[in-house]
Amino acid sequence: MKYLYIQTFGCQMNIHDSEQMAELLRGEGYRKTDDIEKADMVIVNTCSIREKAEQKAHSQIGRFRNLKKARPHVLIGVGGCLAQQWKEKLLDKAPFIDIIFGTHNIHKLPELVRDVEKTRAFRVETSFHNETRSLGVLTLPDNGCVKAYVTVMQGCDNYCAFCVVPYLRGREESRKAVEILNEIEALADHGIKEVTLLGQNVNSYGKTLGNGYGFSNMLKDIGRIRGIERMRFTTSQPRDLSVDIIKCFGEVDALCEHIHLPVQSGSDRILEKMNRHYSSRDYFEKIVRLKEICPRISITSDVIVGFPGETERDFNETLDLMESVRFDNLFSFKYSDRPGTKAALMGDKVAEEVKRDRLMKLQAVQETYTFEKNKAMEGSVVKVLVEGRSKNSSEDVMGRTSSNRIVNFRGNSDLVGKTVRARITEAYLHSLRGELIEGQV
Ligand code: SF4
Repeated sequence: MKYLYIQTFGCQMNIHDSEQMAELLRGEGYRKTDDIEKADMVIVNTCSIREKAEQKAHSQIGRFRNLKKARPHVLIGVGGCLAQQWKEKLLDKAPFIDIIFGTHNIHKLPELVRDVEKTRAFRVETSFHNETRSLGVLTLPDNGCVKAYVTVMQGCDNYCAFCVVPYLRGREESRKAVEILNEIEALADHGIKEVTLLGQNVNSYGKTLGNGYGFSNMLKDIGRIRGIERMRFTTSQPRDLSVDIIKCFGEVDALCEHIHLPVQSGSDRILEKMNRHYSSRDYFEKIVRLKEICPRISITSDVIVGFPGETERDFNETLDLMESVRFDNLFSFKYSDRPGTKAALMGDKVAEEVKRDRLMKLQAVQETYTFEKNKAMEGSVVKVLVEGRSKNSSEDVMGRTSSNRIVNFRGNSDLVGKTVRARITEAYLHSLRGELIEGQV
């Protein structure tokens, strides 16, 4: 038996890519391990969406130098966005790497590994393919997990000024609907209750198929699959959130009451510089529409502070938008230059300490909104899909509400995979405490 250790950086797409790598390498006799000491192969699945993520990945790769020295038979592979960006140049810094594979070459891993095992010569594979072969590997989550990811499309054609995705993940390409639906049926047959549909710009799904089948059709079709109780999707570009998709929140029972809709800025001037193709008013109108159709919908978002040229006034407009929308949660970041993007070439960069102060201010404001929203749930009864044992106590289980809030409550492992009712007894910033209500959901 050979063992595979994978370290993943970045988003849900990368997590799912790593699951697919592990599944493909099962066929080569590798089993996943969390113990690096046991590993015969190590893969670092990297992210370079932000400078910090890229630095972390570089330093992790550097740490494997000693591992390779101590145990030369261990294969070292580097995949993901950093591999796509740096290609063989990664070898200048880390000549001990055996395999560098880009974002479109996950399906080639078995072949690459077989080759390197035989020849012991390094391989680099970073070409783009106009197909989605790397996306369709059926991955069943470990031990009794009830949720699974399904990638429905890859790449992005939007070219937002700050983003490296179109350069590192390629042009937008959707998988065929029949493949996706078959995959989800297979997951349901294995007891999966919740699927999250993944794509860099998931709500533009279908554009490249050219047959009129769009994301709203996909949501409705998945909603008819027996056994799938919940579905979510991420991540969406507000411009591509069509009326048909919004309507699905009122029509498709399995679609969760949650949307992650990155706004990035509340200033129209900055949104234009970012090449986002919507105004803060357009964004707000979509939020109003979503709330009309699904009054309990939870809205989360991403914001970048300190984009080149962002003034105090622009920043205050972002705070104003936050006040109008009252996001349930917000992921906020300081702008960092990403090589090859339009924004990296822009002048008028915002000073580091200004970015830091704005980020702290924005996060403090958001914390009050998030806590306020959670607090308002005290005393309410919610449906919770139980995902597993709680990290906090061996006597507790944890699950999520449809709005994607974590709930911990007293209960045993028999509840895992079941949807139960719980009364919320206490709210915290990042989770809720509840008590099980026995009986039918
Ligand atoms: S839509 Fe998202 S993935 Fe596409 S370029 Fe913009 S930020 Fe990047």
